[in-house]
Amino acid sequence: MADFRELQTPTGIPALAQAASLALAVFEHARVTSWDELGEAVRSGVAQACLSSLVIEPDQAELMNQHAAVLRLIRHKPLVTVAVCPKCERWVLVAGSVPTSCKARWGCDGSPVKASKAKRPVIEKTKSASP
Ligand SMILES: [Zn+2]
Repeated sequence: MADFRELQTPTGIPALAQAASLALAVFEHARVTSWDELGEAVRSGVAQACLSSLVIEPDQAELMNQHAAVLRLIRHKPLVTVAVCPKCERWVLVAGSVPTSCKARWGCDGSPVKASKAKRPVIEKTKSASP
């Protein structure tokens, strides 16, 4: 069994970028590529074993649900994520490098933030079976 890990919401970035970061970490943990695949894996019970070792707080689940429409567009492998402009809060899908200036809105001078996978530090090592 896997070590217990805790999903950490990145701070200081727009809510959509936080949601995408969380989702990418959950995708990796559940060994799926996309939001739809995750839903399928949860429904069929395949992901339960993986996800039981990841602590997801209710507010994190809520944040992902609020942005589910966009989260359906991102992918874990190969990586397709969102870059969110902190000024106008518009977003674009990115597969590689992020534009240095906002391309989502005419005249916006914001610098888009790329959502990368949230951290999942180990909070409890699984003890090996006692003798
Ligand atoms: Zn902008």
